[in-house]
Amino acid sequence: MPGEFRPDSVNNMPIEYFLTPDQLWSDAKDVIKSEISLQNFNTWFNSSSGVSLDDETFKISVPNKFTAEWLKNRFNQAIVKAVACCLGTSRKIEYVIGNSNDPISPVGNTPVKTTTGADSEPAATIKTDSVDFESNLNLRYLFDNFVVGDSNQFPHAAAKAVAEAPMQTKYNPLYIYGGSGLGKTHLVQAIGNEATANFSNLKVLYVTSEKFTNDFIDAIARKKTLEFARSYRSVDLLLLDDIQFFTGKEATQEQFFHTFNALYQAGKQIVLTSDRPPRDIKGLEERLLSRFQCGLVTDIQPPDLETRTAILNMIVKLQGLSIPPEVVAYIANNVTRNIRELEGSIIRLNAYGSLNGRKIDIQFAQEILKGTFTAGKEISIKSITENVADYYRINPDHLKSKRKTAELVRARQVAMYICRKYTTNSLKKIGEEFGGRDHSTVIHAISTVEDNLDSDFNLKSAVDSLEAAIKS
Ligand code: ADP
Ligand code: MG
Repeated sequence: MPGEFRPDSVNNMPIEYFLTPDQLWSDAKDVIKSEISLQNFNTWFNSSSGVSLDDETFKISVPNKFTAEWLKNRFNQAIVKAVACCLGTSRKIEYVIGNSNDPISPVGNTPVKTTTGADSEPAATIKTDSVDFESNLNLRYLFDNFVVGDSNQFPHAAAKAVAEAPMQTKYNPLYIYGGSGLGKTHLVQAIGNEATANFSNLKVLYVTSEKFTNDFIDAIARKKTLEFARSYRSVDLLLLDDIQFFTGKEATQEQFFHTFNALYQAGKQIVLTSDRPPRDIKGLEERLLSRFQCGLVTDIQPPDLETRTAILNMIVKLQGLSIPPEVVAYIANNVTRNIRELEGSIIRLNAYGSLNGRKIDIQFAQEILKGTFTAGKEISIKSITENVADYYRINPDHLKSKRKTAELVRARQVAMYICRKYTTNSLKKIGEEFGGRDHSTVIHAISTVEDNLDSDFNLKSAVDSLEAAIKS
């Protein structure tokens, strides 16, 4: 028993015989204190004490079950390490709920406040400073700075519902998809931030599917797959971003499937995002697909003019920029498909303005941004078809048909040439769009145009004006 030692055999005694459990805990806490934030330390360790120590186990008394779970889930590794360091040998740690006059309640009531004392502050601390767990949340992404419009109303409402009652909504999993730069990451991060603020004991993890994959590969290499699985499966709210990157990665999908099932069956909440609906993720296993469809699948559309204007106005206000409404309108009218570019345009304009000491008015905005708007304009087979049909004054359906008048053949060749030059579509796809032709016909069309551009004045002027039209 600790403390029961005879002075003559002191030198042979292991160190634990000299320490009362509470002294040991006090030393171990000093080690832990140097490794984590003071706030975390005060929140989770202050009211604990060492209660017993034997050859196998060191028991720590904590004021409530909640604290026990926190210590176990987030700090166990650090505690084991610190105890081993003070003792010179390791012990299994057990947490017992004891009577304490100084109970630790969820983070909001911690003995030590953050410098601002703001209610939302503790959420930020949990994520950044815990020893073995990072939630990867970024406080920049909040519901408060997410502008809601027709294009994102539904996913926003579902996201909000999940943040308010994770694990209790019908939306499990919640699957949000949409094009790049439309706010998917912002929404899922906002769920994480709000859920953490609402439920300080909730274990939230945001991860991109790329990171999930890398962690998994890393775990295989280090023979730590069990640990990998355990750490992911201990999460209450899993936010998995951009799952299209799972495409073709069978082992990762398999691992994700097991993680997904384990969490789902334990009633945990899962939120997924992708740039496309579940059925369009190539190589996604049927069983995962059907799991995704059990919850709620919802999409974010490109924002309408009103939403784009509101987003720009919000940026202007939040960043205290001085940008007149007509410039905001100019940007909102020209950047239509990507909110990231919308933000980028206004920030770039502001930066150029301050660098050059120029007042930001509509002339300056046009000067700076016009080129980038043109470059970013989406050019599709459809828009090319329309422009070519218009130029040659023919019916666009004829261009897409198998008909072969000399005029149609020429127009079709020009259309194919421009499609190849300005879009990322494959030769096969271009052939299919223009009358179901095969890729060798497309290659022939393209080289015919290229070969004749220098010598055929009519062809050259057609191509020049069509290129100008599709870019403007
Ligand atoms: P995605 O993940 O869909 O590619 P992001 O979530 O990264 O897009 O959004 C791109 C940028 O646009 C981010 O800076 C984000 O904060 C901003 N953003 C997107 N949607 C909105 C919105 N509705 N209101 C305000 N900002 C938005
Ligand atoms: Mg994203």
